[in-house]
Amino acid sequence: MHKSNCRVCGYELASPPWGDDGDSPSWDICPCCGTEFGYEDCTLVSTKRKRDQWIAEGCKWFEPKKRPLDWDCERQCENIPEAFR
Ligand SMILES: [Zn+2]
Repeated sequence: MHKSNCRVCGYELASPPWGDDGDSPSWDICPCCGTEFGYEDCTLVSTKRKRDQWIAEGCKWFEPKKRPLDWDCERQCENIPEAFR
């Protein structure tokens, strides 16, 4: 479940940020929170730190053009993989 969602912000990605085996980071950047998969989200502690920082800065989009008009930060955060909450 939620294998294709960003571990930091819950954004649904086109492909799993950590690969099909969950152990092969893509090193892509999340268009929502700007996390580099394999870097800020490599441990639970670093993932939470990045999320806290992102929320504290107002949940800004890394690629603002991709932000849906009716985007809801809290609703998206419900899709964060359970192991990384
Ligand atoms: Zn993200």
